[in-house]
Amino acid sequence: MKRGITNIAFVAVLAVTPALAWEDGPSLEELMKPAPNRAWNGFALAGHSTTKLADGVYAFRNTGTRSIFMVTNDGVIATDPVSETHAKLMREAIAEVTDQPVTHVVYSHEHWDHVQGGQIFKDEGATFIAHENCVRHFYDRPNPNIVMPDVTFSDDYTLEVGGRSMELMYFGPNHGDCMVVMRPDAGDFLFIVDLVTSGGAPLGFMPDYAPHHCGTHA
Ligand SMILES: [Zn+2]
Repeated sequence: MKRGITNIAFVAVLAVTPALAWEDGPSLEELMKPAPNRAWNGFALAGHSTTKLADGVYAFRNTGTRSIFMVTNDGVIATDPVSETHAKLMREAIAEVTDQPVTHVVYSHEHWDHVQGGQIFKDEGATFIAHENCVRHFYDRPNPNIVMPDVTFSDDYTLEVGGRSMELMYFGPNHGDCMVVMRPDAGDFLFIVDLVTSGGAPLGFMPDYAPHHCGTHA
């Protein structure tokens, strides 16, 4: 069955935004005004929090950046470690809901503001997964705080752990060129990083986007 990325994004806006939107933030109309746009200061949130999205699926937020994690019967799937601080706080948040180890970490895309700090999970034996295009960026722009992927894939990939699954979908260049859209097996939503953000789509100044690539996904 063919499905367009536009339709996928539409589902995400409908389903993810109510779960992740901050209260009393700027309106969608305000966010869509051209940059510079003071409404984007609404993302300068303080502190951190954990939100249950579905059975075994949680969103972890530290300041304005989010990851998700999924608890299975045989370990935890975590996504973007972001930074040493974010990863440490997310590890503590995971420990509050389960004693399971983090066995897998999935990178959303190659940008440093989402993929640093994973060593805490590597130290407990996690397998790191990313689209294959990310690896070139990691070698071209070395960063000692990035754990290299153990498993890569070229198209779509379904991660199956402990009776649960998370679908990782690749749509080609969009924001960066190794972005994956994640669909946990529970909850009617997608986890999309930097393409669709709570209350706005996409980031107002479109950094590192490829809007001319607008294909469909088989
Ligand atoms: Zn990015």
